Amino acid sequence: MTATAPITQDVMTLPRKLPEGGPLNIVGLTREELMAALLAAGTPERQARMRMGQVWQWVYHWGVRDFAQMTNLAKDYRALLAEHFAIVLPEVVTRQISADGTRKYLIRIAGGHEVETVYIPEEGRGTLCVSSQVGCTLTCSFCHTGTQKLVRNLTAGEIVGQLMLVRDDLGEWPERGAPKDETRLVSNLVLMGMGEPLYNFENVRNAMKVVMDGEGLSLSRRRITLSTSGVVPEIARTAEEIGCQLAISFHATTDEVRDILVPINKRWNIRTLLDSLRDYPRLSNSERITFEYVMLDGINDSDADARRLVKLISGIPSKINLIPFNEWPGAPYRRSTPERIAAFADIIYKAGYASPIRTPRGEDIMAACGQLKSATERARKSRAQIAAETGL
Ligand code: SAH
Ligand code: SF4
Repeated sequence: MTATAPITQDVMTLPRKLPEGGPLNIVGLTREELMAALLAAGTPERQARMRMGQVWQWVYHWGVRDFAQMTNLAKDYRALLAEHFAIVLPEVVTRQISADGTRKYLIRIAGGHEVETVYIPEEGRGTLCVSSQVGCTLTCSFCHTGTQKLVRNLTAGEIVGQLMLVRDDLGEWPERGAPKDETRLVSNLVLMGMGEPLYNFENVRNAMKVVMDGEGLSLSRRRITLSTSGVVPEIARTAEEIGCQLAISFHATTDEVRDILVPINKRWNIRTLLDSLRDYPRLSNSERITFEYVMLDGINDSDADARRLVKLISGIPSKINLIPFNEWPGAPYRRSTPERIAAFADIIYKAGYASPIRTPRGEDIMAACGQLKSATERARKSRAQIAAETGL
């Protein structure tokens, strides 16, 4: 661990190889994209908007995967759809269930890459933690994902697909004819899995448009939280184009320490980051900004840190989420003691902020924050081997 660690690691970023000429996957297309695709497939112009709405409802409200089941469409139109389109989700490779009920899914996406999705059931709600990239180009020194060398952006379909496949697993699609059931097993979504969502802005935005759409998956923007390490130029855009809640991986109260923990700080330092946040709640109609703060023994957990933290964020409507460090094999840090965390939390609380301490969930299956990493550690493979596998 040195202060001169690069902001981004030496990664191999793979372009996605698109299947040629095959059917187009509907999952992840925005309404506009779906309508354009239906027109291109031969849908008469004056019907296109209505057909788009019908297909949309089947796919995202009812969870239907087979065009033959879209019974309000004429038979020959269903055949046309089946010829040009597909409704496919990433494949679930393994599913592990923790003693606390947390479910971790290892999913395989095009090209054979793997990411993780975690479902966390709680009293009265259920949170889905989705990934936005395979690996991460950033090099936060306490994060397991940041040590993975292979990086590829997920498509919008692969992001939306994570929610859909978890709903499949939980049996959460509505049943036709049954009385409306308002309980939601997946009631909240957090972009806190693998990857830096703001380095994959367009796909994340389009995926969230699909997820927020009231005639489909229908998760309100208030129940979606995007976590970023601090990609300042994309923060205002997140407010304007997505409007979801924002969480910031803050983790340190001086630039000296944050440069090491969250190296993107060398590009956009604490002051620049905080300035970019002042307008966020107003621009996005969101409530408060969450400051995530990982508790690392002897590194960022002193009383002085707690006092500096409170001072730094004053004037920004915010809450602070303390995350006990989750260890991973070879991690260079240790978790702060429970007494230290409690003392830190107390200073924040007395300054007038809610300071919940995040209970680690799914630790027994390595599903907790920062522990995610493709099980098949691809960094160990040679570049030539990876290239051969992905057909590049
Ligand atoms: N890349 C984004 C989102 C994913 S990380 C970001 O950094 O915000 C989700 C949260 O888990 C972040 O706050 C991250 O800093 C934190 N985290 C990473 N590794 C961790 C670990 N080992 N223990 C506890 N939290 C960790
Ligand atoms: Fe990437 Fe976030 Fe991990 Fe940093 S904490 S390496 S930004 S996933």
